[in-house]
Amino acid sequence: MDTTAIRNPDIAEKVGVPVAEGDEDSRPRLDLDAEPRETVGVVAVDDPRMQAREVNVYYGDKHAIRNVSLDIGANQVISMIGPSGCGKSTFLRCLNRMNDTIDGCRVTGSIRLDDQDIADKTLDVVQLRARVGMVFQKPNPFPKSIYDNVAYGPRIHGMAADRIELDEIVQTSLKKAGLWEEVKDRLDQQGTGLSGGQQQRLCIARAIAVSPEVILMDEPCSALDPIATARIEELIDELRENYTIAIVTHSMQQAARVSQRTAYFHLGDLVEVDETAQVFTNPQHKLTEDYITGRFG
Ligand code: ADP
Repeated sequence: MDTTAIRNPDIAEKVGVPVAEGDEDSRPRLDLDAEPRETVGVVAVDDPRMQAREVNVYYGDKHAIRNVSLDIGANQVISMIGPSGCGKSTFLRCLNRMNDTIDGCRVTGSIRLDDQDIADKTLDVVQLRARVGMVFQKPNPFPKSIYDNVAYGPRIHGMAADRIELDEIVQTSLKKAGLWEEVKDRLDQQGTGLSGGQQQRLCIARAIAVSPEVILMDEPCSALDPIATARIEELIDELRENYTIAIVTHSMQQAARVSQRTAYFHLGDLVEVDETAQVFTNPQHKLTEDYITGRFG
């Protein structure tokens, strides 16, 4: 093999050396000099709860999200899908400024929650994260009782005048999360003692307890068995009546089951977003089609 030859044809052409013969480099390439891809589909909705415009995210020198604009519609579920590493979680974390907690992470562009810019210096980020709550991949109850897990946020935010009001919030939140019947007789037991699916519903109750407008879910079922997953999916559908939900999922079936809109990310670009049925039955972009038909990812 010619030692000056390079396997990546794009780079070979740029630096004027031959393309190496032999093993073809079939890895997808991200040309960072290229313009970000234009999103196809429908970025804006009639009734947005959140609006992201030209959002870019950098981890040090790495450009992880490129010029993403997307509305999150009120009382809808939107799924973010795409191959691993394409920026789904990074984008989700922008929506309640969780990326602020990562060293070297920089976010540009604008994100509005209702009429407020969430990057506004006067905005209290603790309040923001109550309004835009988050449920993580692995259920992460606090090492406290079931009651105290749910009461934690309302206590911090001074939402209850007395124990009776706090009891009421805890009960309502557990009911909305579909967990009340299973735990009402053991509220003083450790949250970590529940099954995986119950723990995840406890985490959803904890998010609900501070009356959020939006709930972000980052692969909330990936650590759960199929029955617990079905229960959470049912719950997501019920919660949509009162909340706006953005969910990252690696399961296309889940996206198709739970969401009204689907956004397809690819190597840091938002390639396509539209009604879920449209994306899955008649994708406009070749990359989306390749992904949903299993040719890529
Ligand atoms: P996805 O959720 O689609 O799997 P991520 O948002 O986790 O993708 O990652 C997008 C890109 O950003 C990946 O290349 C990943 O390696 C990088 N990345 C994610 N988190 C960090 C971090 N904390 N520090 C540096 N790079 C990161």
